[in-house]
Amino acid sequence: MSVKIQNIKGTKDILPKDSQLWLETESIIHNFMSLHGYKLIRTPIFEKTELFNRTIGEDTDIVTKEMYTWTDLDGTSLTLRPELTASVVRSFVQHNLQSKSPLHRLYYIDSSFRRERPQKGRQRQFTQYGIEAIGSAHPEQDAEVILIAYRIYQMLGIKDLEVHINSIGSQQSRETYISSLSKYLAPYKNELSEISQTRLDVNPLRILDSKSEKDKKILEGAPQISDFLTKEDLVTFNSIQSFLNNLGIPFITDNNLVRGLDYYNGMTFEITTKSIGAQSALCGGGRYDKLVEYLGGKPTPAVGFAAGFERLMLILNEHLDETKDVIDIYIISTDEKSTNSSLIIADKIRNTHGIKVVCETLRRSMKSQLREANKLNAQFVIIIGEEEISSGEVIIKNMQDSSQISAPIDNIENYFGVNYEYK
Ligand code: AMP
Repeated sequence: MSVKIQNIKGTKDILPKDSQLWLETESIIHNFMSLHGYKLIRTPIFEKTELFNRTIGEDTDIVTKEMYTWTDLDGTSLTLRPELTASVVRSFVQHNLQSKSPLHRLYYIDSSFRRERPQKGRQRQFTQYGIEAIGSAHPEQDAEVILIAYRIYQMLGIKDLEVHINSIGSQQSRETYISSLSKYLAPYKNELSEISQTRLDVNPLRILDSKSEKDKKILEGAPQISDFLTKEDLVTFNSIQSFLNNLGIPFITDNNLVRGLDYYNGMTFEITTKSIGAQSALCGGGRYDKLVEYLGGKPTPAVGFAAGFERLMLILNEHLDETKDVIDIYIISTDEKSTNSSLIIADKIRNTHGIKVVCETLRRSMKSQLREANKLNAQFVIIIGEEEISSGEVIIKNMQDSSQISAPIDNIENYFGVNYEYK
């Protein structure tokens, strides 16, 4: 009995009609990273659960309810990665990369997994690309990271971009701020959303991320992190802003852009667009000077971002003009002998010129094969039949202007180089 099996909710097949745009966009990202001196890093899609529990935070939605976690046969708890920073830093520490160079510019483009409620721009398996610049504590490194994130969108023609930046300062400023924030929120405890009530005791900073309207209202009068930054924090933050101004990157400072984990510090940023509706966050990043140390490495400053690839594809797809897929040559053959010849000819032309050649493998009528060649937007058609085999000559038909020439089968590849303008 046959069974039709569907894909899992929140996952997507990338069908041939979309895969070309995927490949092109991926390739643009790879090139762009390389232009800035960033090198690709690939890590396994699953890790010990402990890695994510420790780095993402035990009280986050990701860790409490969104991870795909299972117990392996030897009893180890394993998890499909919900993001890549933890894995990249784990790998950086494990392979002792810091001993090889004072600065590592790394980038990735890979799948992540979160058991979220699927909707437009939100999937359970999705692709993230991002960078981790590990080694420099200076503001020019922060500016470089924001520049890369921003310019990719700009280069791809994404409109209505907003860059939000903030500084959460040093650990010392953050601690004073947290105690002031807790003091301010304490009298409102019972009015806060359920999750914020728990966070008030565990991690009050994360309340600033709250989506609840009630919480947002209460937060309107809350103390602002900017009032707690030390002189040194402010000098660094001003310096990042001045680099961005000089680079011509518009930005908005946003006091509520805060990352609640201990190893984050200094600059945080997010890039949004109004082009994709509710899930407007394209990318998020910031400085995490304590993470390398937290995962067992020597204290090493770091800054990076993570961006959603599917959200980018959503926008690109919406603005895409119907692009025509084109092949260079379609070879029509009418019997077994000519099919044999068509395979050889196609192989020769592809190897000589690196152009797209497609042969008939369905043994259709001549008329259907011509229709297929038209459908594939073939620039040229070569017809091989019994007669052509015996005369040793074939017809090359130019589908643009309907002109045709005859060419010897034995050295037909020469007709698609110097002698014959095929494009
Ligand atoms: P985050 O690690 O949550 O800051 O995510 C970084 C970026 O990944 C976001 O700005 C989104 O563009 C993208 N992203 C996060 N979660 C999802 C998801 N479930 N589906 C698609 N994209 C996502």
